[in-house]
Amino acid sequence: MLTSRRALLLLLLFLALAGCREATPAATPTGAPPVGVTPTADPYAAAREAMVREQIEQRGITGGRVLAALRAVPRHRFVPEEHIARAYADHPLPIGYGQTISQPYIVALMSQELGVQPGDAVLEIGTGSGYQAAVLAEMGVDVYTVEIIPELAQRGAETLAALGYADVHTLQADGYFGWETHAPYDAIIVTAAPDHLPQPLIGQLAAGGRLVIPIGPPGSYQTLWRYEKGADGEVIATNLGGVSFVPFTRAQ
Ligand code: SAH
Repeated sequence: MLTSRRALLLLLLFLALAGCREATPAATPTGAPPVGVTPTADPYAAAREAMVREQIEQRGITGGRVLAALRAVPRHRFVPEEHIARAYADHPLPIGYGQTISQPYIVALMSQELGVQPGDAVLEIGTGSGYQAAVLAEMGVDVYTVEIIPELAQRGAETLAALGYADVHTLQADGYFGWETHAPYDAIIVTAAPDHLPQPLIGQLAAGGRLVIPIGPPGSYQTLWRYEKGADGEVIATNLGGVSFVPFTRAQ
């Protein structure tokens, strides 16, 4: 027969074990840690850190704000669920509608070449997933981003808002014409490749500003250019090398 003390101990043990089971929620489908156990842990933190070290730093990107931004932005939140396992891999990924989120290194290179300071106004043409806009926002600049495909414009805006990038200004329009309302911009970045430099973009660039843009024929390699507008309005072009971007499309 159990003594009452032993019965009490057994009862406490049972309750403790039952409590343990209840306190351990099932794993989530994405493989993320169960909510409530380690709420601040990011299962992609190690992959993101490896991306920054192996793809970005080792290729010579040294800008502190660029590196900090790439360490901060959860790239996996900008890629479709079916590609999430490759979110930090060294290549672009499909985001639907025939478009792609750029390779991390290209995002870093273009962000660095913009030469921006916190508080600068930056125009992006080609919101896509919203990832490049989030990286720029993390660098402390005021971001204005334009996307031509309505569904991507809406999804990009929603993703940015959900992640707290509420200050990023979004617009659905043909970015060939820039975004006149907020011009001039200290820097402009174009993330789709036209076959020529859209003149409205040069027009909306502030004196002393920089425009980074891939230019070339669709479906193959293009050249990444940086245009710098001098105080006198003179424009100097620098070839940054070969890249491969989705085509710049025009409203019908
Ligand atoms: N910066 C994006 C890259 C998206 S791919 C990211 O970080 O995910 C390039 C995007 O440019 C596509 O979404 C495409 O629809 C958009 N685009 C192409 N031509 C455009 C135009 N004329 N105006 C605005 N966006 C355009």
